[in-house]
Amino acid sequence: MAVVHPSIALLSMIVFSLSPPASGVPNRLVAFLIDGLRWDYPFSDPELSEFQAMAREGARARYVTPDFPVKSYPNYYTIMTGLHTESHGMTGNYMHDVMRNTSFLLGYNPESYEPYWWEGAEPIWITATKQERKVNMYYWPTCEVPIFNTLPNKCEPYAGYPTYNNITDSIDEIVQLFSERAVDMAFVYFEDVDRLGHAHGVESQQRLEATRDVSRFLEYLRENLGRTGQSDDVNVVVMSDHGMATVEYGPSGGYVSLSSFIDHNDLDNPVFYETSYVSMWPKEERLDKVYADLQRVPHSVAYKKEDIPEGWHYKNGKYVPPLLLVMTFPYLIGKAVW
Ligand SMILES: [Zn+2]
Repeated sequence: MAVVHPSIALLSMIVFSLSPPASGVPNRLVAFLIDGLRWDYPFSDPELSEFQAMAREGARARYVTPDFPVKSYPNYYTIMTGLHTESHGMTGNYMHDVMRNTSFLLGYNPESYEPYWWEGAEPIWITATKQERKVNMYYWPTCEVPIFNTLPNKCEPYAGYPTYNNITDSIDEIVQLFSERAVDMAFVYFEDVDRLGHAHGVESQQRLEATRDVSRFLEYLRENLGRTGQSDDVNVVVMSDHGMATVEYGPSGGYVSLSSFIDHNDLDNPVFYETSYVSMWPKEERLDKVYADLQRVPHSVAYKKEDIPEGWHYKNGKYVPPLLLVMTFPYLIGKAVW
């Protein structure tokens, strides 16, 4: 069994706890990005009391529809720029720049830290910094990239999965800096709900405990804001990039091997499997051949770039591939052959 990001439409969630501004002093903001926090997790477990308190006292979006592709990096950037993927340009966890012959891959690939991948649009932490707001980022992937020659006040780099203690240490620092009026905004990234959901399953105890950790550190934040007299002038936002679904895969079904249908020598660039879809850069004269080959791949739809549906707000992205194969849920694509 594996758990994957589905191809189009599982839903994420956002919770707000909003305070009216105190007289004449701008409120501060702390926002958490909880990777893979599905819309229904916070309200399906009575131990997640802090989520429920935030929704009761603040506001809750019932769901958020992620952008295509339903992957982390594109949706982080959608959240932080307010734009669809084709407009901000971050169109995959893997991308290829044909002109530069470089590739972007999430994680530690050094090429991914080149600013040009990120300069299709301006994220809020850069806009706020340009407006002389102090922004601290904690474990936010690639916050150390100078975007339009600008860096936030602080970037605690993502360096492996941030732990519960990393997050509570960050909260201690944020609460202190807010009380000194030394920082205006803070953004914190937490990955365990996504990581443990992928590794052990949506319904696993590990995923459940990771979600309880989020509720615990939100409660810790509330207590510390209260202790320092800041309950009424800090806004707290909890966001997610996408949901997650359970699929069965293996030799008996659910998993389609691309190698059985195309000749990889027809491609210019290695294939990076996103499981719910594959981007392909065929050799120019082989595009129609590969497209024809893809018609035989079961449980999938192949698109030439120009035929990708407009409503996905994806096709006009700078790094969108000439050929895109999208799997029909709950089927996956990969190269493994059993
Ligand atoms: Zn994610």
